[in-house]
Formats: sequence, structure tokens, C-alpha cells
Amino acid sequence: MSDLATRNIMYLPGVGPKKAEILKKELQITSFEDLLYHFPYKYVDRSRIYSIREINGEMPYIQVKGKIIALRLVGDGRGKRMVGTFSDGTGTLDLVWFKGIKYFKEQIKPGQPYILFGKPTVFNNTINVVHPELEKEQPGKVPFFQGLQPFYNTTEKMKNNYLTSRTIFKLVQNVFHNYQSAIPETLPASVIHKMKLMKLDEALRYIHLPPDAQTLQKATFRLKFEELFYIQLNILRLRNQRTYNIKGHVFEKIGTIFNQFYKQNLPFELTDAQKRVIKEMRKDMGSGQQMNRLLQGDVGSGKTLVALMIMLIAIDNKFQTCLMAPTEILASQHFETITEMLQGINVNIELLTGSTRKSDRDRIHASLRDGTLDILIGTHALIEDTVQFKNLGLVVIDEQHRFGVAQRARLWKKNISPPHVLVMTATPIPRTLAMTTYGDLDVSVIDELPPGRKPVQTTHVYHNKRLGVNKFIQEQINAGRQIYIVYPLIEESESMDFKNLTEGYEYIKEVFPNQKVSMVHGKMKPAEKDAAMQDFASGKSKILVSTTVIEVGVNVPNASVMVIESAERFGLSQLHQLRGRVGRGAEQSYCILMTGYKLSNETRKRMEIMTRTNDGFEIAEADMKLRGPGDLEGTQQSGLPFELKIANLAKDTRILQMARNAAQDILSDDPLLEKSENAILLRQLKKLAQQKMNWAMIS
Ligand code: ADP
Ligand code: MG
Repeated sequence: MSDLATRNIMYLPGVGPKKAEILKKELQITSFEDLLYHFPYKYVDRSRIYSIREINGEMPYIQVKGKIIALRLVGDGRGKRMVGTFSDGTGTLDLVWFKGIKYFKEQIKPGQPYILFGKPTVFNNTINVVHPELEKEQPGKVPFFQGLQPFYNTTEKMKNNYLTSRTIFKLVQNVFHNYQSAIPETLPASVIHKMKLMKLDEALRYIHLPPDAQTLQKATFRLKFEELFYIQLNILRLRNQRTYNIKGHVFEKIGTIFNQFYKQNLPFELTDAQKRVIKEMRKDMGSGQQMNRLLQGDVGSGKTLVALMIMLIAIDNKFQTCLMAPTEILASQHFETITEMLQGINVNIELLTGSTRKSDRDRIHASLRDGTLDILIGTHALIEDTVQFKNLGLVVIDEQHRFGVAQRARLWKKNISPPHVLVMTATPIPRTLAMTTYGDLDVSVIDELPPGRKPVQTTHVYHNKRLGVNKFIQEQINAGRQIYIVYPLIEESESMDFKNLTEGYEYIKEVFPNQKVSMVHGKMKPAEKDAAMQDFASGKSKILVSTTVIEVGVNVPNASVMVIESAERFGLSQLHQLRGRVGRGAEQSYCILMTGYKLSNETRKRMEIMTRTNDGFEIAEADMKLRGPGDLEGTQQSGLPFELKIANLAKDTRILQMARNAAQDILSDDPLLEKSENAILLRQLKKLAQQKMNWAMIS
């Protein structure tokens, strides 16, 4: 539709410079094409004419044919209004105007047949319609709306300048009136044929002017399909490009280090799921192509061990490897766990974070460059340019959602040919979102927890039952367990939250005077934070009061209770992450969600889901349904780099799968879209890449 795309909206009949300016500012509409892609957000069925007898005040909209049989002015001053009695022979309704009385009094003709449309309300036992739409009914005249009436998003500013939903509708009609033939097809004929899709010009017409629900559905389907199809085509083609252009390091052997670890140091049997995913990764890394894999596994499923084992394979093949974590706490914990697990094995490991001392840093840099360092564990500090490896073969990124896509890409550049990349996440990503955001990654799933784990029992408790909770905490401490108490700390209300946290800490110290209580939050100096974490990890302190800094990855198996204060302020996936800090040992663990009494329906739903299930995938799906993918916590940063115009990842799962299959079919025949019949696809991808600057970044 290159033609419509270059036509300035200002020159559409009915627009002009002033309205063009507003359309640009309020809706980013600058061309005819933009206008056609401003889709209605809802439709109202105008095909049905009701008789007044059938109408009740609960109906969202009504449409009636009849006449005004009386018109009178009522009240005065601010209460002044015009009231008309409208009859269709089966009954009467009152029409009410508060504004523009003078204008309407001239326009409205009693006795004239009208089609009336509006929202009914009940007032003084009669049905009222305030400010109705009235259209003269004339023999032979086609009513303005016959089928479904579209409603368009508008803003206050637009309305003040006479750009209402109805005006937009008229403008759209103007485009179709003059330019429908200028809308060229954007999908290849073969796809249209195979998927039985509506043509683009028809789909655009019917999304705005649907004669009936069935046609609307077909039009919507076509447009959703196309939107998702091009996203998938883009991702999958980028992946092909990578596979064809980039050679991966070949890790062909399993050597002494891996074997020594497996035989001597592995403290437990691997779960079947762990074995399976390690096999999947070994296959990737031996293939001669670069591995790009996402490892999903619920909290506590044992991802770290999997990462460690493939890191050992890299070392056996004479490569260096690094593990990047999102927080210092987590990085140092990984460092400790891994150092301990590798005891007696000849591997050099270092930890590098923002608070590593200069002298240590220099030493680490040198050992990376001369190749004596095998494993580097750290935070974002790893991606700085000063960190240079002699021969980096594998990068593991833990808890991916904290890292942006761009950061992931920077790690690639740490070796002449890019290292294998394993991304690990415990925030289960709904399948549709994964297919879209990580569509270029292969996915492995650990769908099994190590044996002997008891599912965490979750309860929802109101603040006024706090004494009961304290008693329970005491019992658990008596039984030798440890307790987390987590407070929200949200940036916007930081000082308030901080106060809650410190008051909570003081309160807990008072209630449990004989216990050592620790506190951790993001503002503390790393050394203080470490010391507090150490006290808790070693069991010296029994209660840890903290903010969500402990959300990700922290592992203290003896902790059996997670109390979440103001749980209503957390999203589902965050609650699930927090809950994952307990239930790591053999003992029964508990999660207590503390909230106020007054809760919104959505919050109640969240609490209900949390108490009902421990299944991270179910929770992620529910979260997406409740909040929509755009807001999905944890995916914001690496989430969708573009906006979807019509498709909805929470609802259009089936269409997404179809779109992906269709894209895959095309690419399996023509992996880089070089055949002439696919030129249309490349052209369209280029155009979309220009519109959506971030597209190229998806991979
Ligand atoms: P996550 O997947 O959340 O990162 P971790 O890797 O931290 O989980 O593992 C959680 C706990 O389970 C750790 O204490 C780890 O040592 C233990 N673990 C991992 N794999 C197994 C296994 N196969 N059998 C028993 N315990 C295991
Ligand atoms: Mg982990």
C-alpha cells in the first residue's frame, strides 16, 4: 500500500491542516494508511431494531424506530433540559437533552420518523435516553449504520476539535470511497490460498465497515494472522541467518573434568529432566553451530547444576566460560555454591562484580586474557569492554528477565566467533510470549523438581491475624527452621516503603527478642548486605527481613516460611518467585500472603491463584490473562520490543501457532527468502523493520 502510505492525511476530504495536526499528535496518524490501521476497539450491533416494549434499563444500547410525539422544556438554570416523548406504537420513552438545547430544538421535528440509537437508563420509572443519536428515516435512504457500528479510540483533545469516533468513521469511509483499489496485497497468494484468508483490501474495509459478525471475524483473523506471521517470519529468518553465517565452537568431547565431577563430586542423582536438557545442549554444542538456548525451569528445579555441568564440558574442550547473574547477592551465591561443588577439581574460578576491588579486578582481567581463568562468575560487570577473554566458548545468563536483549548481544562479541549462549529463566514465560520474544531461541524445559520436595503450602491472611502468624513463626523457629519476611519496595513510593521495612524490622525484633534478626535491602553497602546474608545462610540469624532483593535465586534450604507483607502490591510472577525461596529442603514449607482487608477483584483473584497452585506455568498464563502481556512483570525489559496493533498474545494462541507454522513452511523451502516468489515477503519485512526500529533487535 505504498501509495496510501505516502499520502498525507491532511489531504483526505474532511481533514485539513488543523485536524491533521491533531491526528498526528494524538494518534500518530500521518498518512491514509495510518488511518486505515487505526482499528475500532469495539462494535455495536445496529442491525436489530427493538420495540419499546422489549426495552429495559440494563441493555447497553438500543435502536428503535418511531416518532417524537411531544417536546417540552423542563426546569430552569442548571437543571434546564429538553425532554421529548418518543413512541413506536408499542410504548414510549423519554429523550433528554441537557446541552445544545437551542440547536436541537431547531433540528428535531415532531412527527418525523426517526431511527433512534442510544443507551437506556431508568429514571422515575420511565426509560430515558440521554443525548440520543437520531437519524431521519426516509423511504429509499440507506441508514448510516446498517450492520455493526465501529467505535474508535479518541482523546479529549480530539473531541473538542470535532474529531469523534463518528468523524473517524466518516474519514475511513472517504478513504474507501476513493482509494480502495490502491490497497495492494501484502501476503503471497500461496499463503492466502492455503490459510483461506481474506484479501487485504477487503479485510481493511470490513474491519471498519463490517456488514455482519461473521465477516468481521474473517477480517480480524486475516489482520491478526498477518501481524503475527511477519513477526514469526522475521525471527525465524534471523535465526536462519545466524545458523548459516555463524560457526559455533565444537565441543566434541567430554573430558576428565566433567567425569571427575560426575563421579566424585555430584552430591545427588540428576533428575530425568536435568539429564534430558543436558543432552539437548550437548547436541547443540557439538553441532558446529552456535547454541542459543533458553532453559526454563521452575524455581528450585536445579538449573544451576545443569549450567555448571555444561560449563565443565566447555572447559574440557579448552574454552573459558562465564556465568552472569542479575544481582550481587545471587552472583556471590553462585560463586560459593560452584566453588564448593568443584572442590578437589582443578578449575580456576573468580567472582567479578561492581564491588570487586581494583587489585583483584586487575588480577582477574589478566588471568582472563592469558587463559588461566576457566570460570568467571559475576554481574553486569562482566559485559564491560575491559573484560576480555582469551577464548570464551560459553556464556550462561541466569534469570534472563533481568537482562535486556542488547546486553545479551554484547556478550557475543567477547570472542571472534561468538560463544554458545544459554539463557536460564525461572519466570516461566507463557508459550505465546516465548514464541514471540524468544522465538529465535531453542527451548529446553526442566519440568520436574528434585525428588523429596514437598509443595509449599500457601495461605492468604489479613493483617488483623498477625498475632497468629507470629505464633506460627515461633513454632517454626523452635523446630529449627528459618523465616523470610519480605516487604515491597517500589520506586515511586520508596520512602514510605522504606519506612515500612524498617518499622517491620523493629517490630520483629521486639516480638522475637531472643532471636537474631537480619535485614537486607538494596541501599546497603555490599559488604553489609553480604554479612547479613551470610548470617542468615549460616543459620546464625533465624529471621531475615528484606525487600525483594532476595527474590531471585537465593538458596537457603533450611528456610521454611516466606511471609510476604502487603502481598497485594506484588504481581503474580513476583509472588511466585518469592515463594520459590522456600520449599528447598526436605521439610514442609509455608508461604503466608499478608494483605489488608479491602482488595480489588483482581487482587483477590491473584491471592486465590497463589493459594491454589504451585505450578509456575499455570501462574504465568494466569498472570498474562489478568494483566495482558504488555504489563507482564519480569518481561518488561526484555519483553515485546514493539506494540501489537490487533493481535493479543493472551488470546490469540491458536492464530500465533498457525502463523508460526506458515512462516516455518516458507522458510524450510527458502531459508533466507531469496526466491523471487518470496520477494513480497522481504519487501514487507523491510518496511516493518523501518516502522518498528526495534525489530532487528529481537534476536
Ligand atoms: P533453580 O532452578 O531455581 O536455579 P537451583 O539450581 O538453585 O534451582 O537448585 C535448587 C536446589 O536443588 C539446590 O539446593 C540444588 O543443590 C538442589 N538440586 C539440584 N538438582 C538436584 C537433584 N537432581 N537432586 C536433588 N537436589 C538437587
Ligand atoms: Mg537459580
